Amino acid sequence: MERTLIIFKPDAVNRLLVGRILTRFEDKGLRISAMKLQQSPVEQVKKHYEVHQRKPFYNALVEFMTGGPVILVVLEGPHATTVVRNMLGATDGREATAGTIRGDFGLDQRYNLIHASDGPETARTEIELFFKPEEIVDYTRAPDRWIVSK
Ligand code: ATP
Ligand code: MG
Repeated sequence: MERTLIIFKPDAVNRLLVGRILTRFEDKGLRISAMKLQQSPVEQVKKHYEVHQRKPFYNALVEFMTGGPVILVVLEGPHATTVVRNMLGATDGREATAGTIRGDFGLDQRYNLIHASDGPETARTEIELFFKPEEIVDYTRAPDRWIVSK
């Protein structure tokens, strides 16, 4: 089992797409281990996207991500980081394959609805940045034994 962090960006929240997109992850069989809505502090967003701090889009990205509330979710499942990244599609909605979240709901390279960790190591760091250990819940759901075989 692997965990990954996803963020419903302010465009997803403001476009009323949270329920429809979250349903895709539930339909896939992924388990929600943590979830909360917050207005992100600038410093936290800067830290989260610090690998991009020299990129020309960095300031606008930080402004976008602090321009309204976001919903943070920890998802759990086998190969969760890869599975979820594939469900998102390419960064730019205009290039993302139809059938992916960005391919179906977006037309922009900045307003692309969802963030997801790009690997298990990144996921650990990102989950730690946004959640306290006690906010993450370990549990099983009744249908889990029909979702992942032993
Ligand atoms: P994320 O890290 O949010 O999951 P990603 O890994 O697909 O997205 P990154 O290259 O890490 O893409 O870029 C981080 C975010 O910065 C993008 O999701 C997008 O919101 C914004 N961004 C990336 N490239 C551009 C660009 N050329 N112009 C404007 N915004 C951009
Ligand atoms: Mg990224």
